[in-house]
Amino acid sequence: MLKHWMKKVYGSFQNINGLPSKPLEAYVNVDIKLSGCPINATQLLSTIASLLKDNFPNITHKPVCLECKLKANPCILIENNEPCLGPITAAGCGALCPSFASPCYGCWGPCEGARVDAMASILTKKGYDLEEILSRINAFGQNIKIV
Ligand code: SF4
Ligand code: SF4
Repeated sequence: MLKHWMKKVYGSFQNINGLPSKPLEAYVNVDIKLSGCPINATQLLSTIASLLKDNFPNITHKPVCLECKLKANPCILIENNEPCLGPITAAGCGALCPSFASPCYGCWGPCEGARVDAMASILTKKGYDLEEILSRINAFGQNIKIV
């Protein structure tokens, strides 16, 4: 199948040697990782500013909930039973989605010490399907299985 698509895209592909698909740090040294797709402009500018001053940037690995609470948003997980993944997702986006009453779907990847099992348990108790929860949690490069 891969050969079929290689031929379709490149015509002749004899000289194409692709690398196996792995995280960037498997191939080059990575000093700093910014989450988000796209990354947050404020976080990028602050990272560049820190580096220009020879300081190591302060990148938070706390959960989205922290930013959400700093914005004094009502908690849609608690109050509306929305499947918000803020408790296990890395902050940095400014709690964008919950600020518009929309649940975080985890696009910044896991925060430090993410308690995925506890999150899954809370959402299961709220009536969400475990498979659906895992597909949300795993949508951004994770491969979490809960048995
Ligand atoms: S709405 Fe989501 S991000 Fe905000 S506090 Fe509740 S769980 Fe956390
Ligand atoms: S899905 Fe979560 S991490 Fe992504 S922008 Fe929305 S609130 Fe931020």
